Amino acid sequence: MAKSTETITDPYDALDKSGDKSGDKDDLRHDWTTDEVGALFALPFNDLLFRAQTLHRRYFDPNEVQISTLLSIKTGGCPEDCAYCPQSAHYDTEVDRDGLMNIDDVVAAAQRARDAGASRFCMGAAWRRPTDKDLEQVCTMIEGVRATGMETCVTLGMLTDAQARRLKEAGLDYYNHNIDTSEEYYGDIITTRTFDDRIETLSNVRHAGLNVCCGGIVGMGESRTDRAGMLMALATLPDHPQSVPINQLVRVPGTPLAKTGEIDGLEFVRTIAVARIVMPRSVVRLSAGRTDMSTEMQALCFAAGANSIFYGDQLLTTDNPATHADKELFERLGLRAMGAPSAPPDQDHGGA
Ligand code: SF4
Repeated sequence: MAKSTETITDPYDALDKSGDKSGDKDDLRHDWTTDEVGALFALPFNDLLFRAQTLHRRYFDPNEVQISTLLSIKTGGCPEDCAYCPQSAHYDTEVDRDGLMNIDDVVAAAQRARDAGASRFCMGAAWRRPTDKDLEQVCTMIEGVRATGMETCVTLGMLTDAQARRLKEAGLDYYNHNIDTSEEYYGDIITTRTFDDRIETLSNVRHAGLNVCCGGIVGMGESRTDRAGMLMALATLPDHPQSVPINQLVRVPGTPLAKTGEIDGLEFVRTIAVARIVMPRSVVRLSAGRTDMSTEMQALCFAAGANSIFYGDQLLTTDNPATHADKELFERLGLRAMGAPSAPPDQDHGGA
């Protein structure tokens, strides 16, 4: 099998092998092709994991995992038709509609998440795009959450350039906006917006100076070429997203993807490993779908380079492992929380 590993040279051979992690970001590759990414997927499993783990150790402590907690601040009734999403108004699911949450309740939830060990608080609203009035309320939430000492992330749908700048001014650290899948498969999953709409908002977010959280979903019936295409699209953005959530589809009754066949677990681990290789300095989040994964599968994902999870019993509307189960998981694997907050940041809202 050694021959197969010779077909791909170490993509980061040019980097300093002495362990120096301070190199300029321009050392990173932004010219991946789908074929090259597909060739990584095709490596023998052990070779793939070795490459991913080697790069992971070059840039991160392999035993540290970033912990985020997610809260739905406005639930259901979304006009978009994302085929995986129980919050879409197009599908008959058990998700109830709720308006924008009260600011005090959001800040209280952030304090509980911080006390439980999370370092980032992510707030999601089921909008196609926020109105400027909605955005102002979210900005007040961001200021309140930031005062607890946590990093902040929001996902609100499409943003204009001015809206992205307003969020930055409010002190937002990360904006989540997933590309979900490959450009080629995108129209099979969402028809109410285009892949290019996604790229435009990502550009607005990046130009505002916000950190980008952007990944996708695996197991929606896409091909391996689509998975490679999705990772190629992420790794060829002008800057690699600072945070890359890789979700396993949660098949929610009532959504068009409810009866999609289950993805092979090892293929999911391969997706994590390839994400780590093509975006070696990004935090790769083992995101939705963990309730369907065994401890062993999650351990393989961490070995493949995942170094972030959502912590807390609930994601936006779907279940997440119980907090006691994650504490036990961390103990069994010898993992530690990355960057737990210690003191509130200064209040000048100078940005992350
Ligand atoms: S994923 Fe987001 S944009 Fe798509 S339907 Fe759900 S809430 Fe709306």
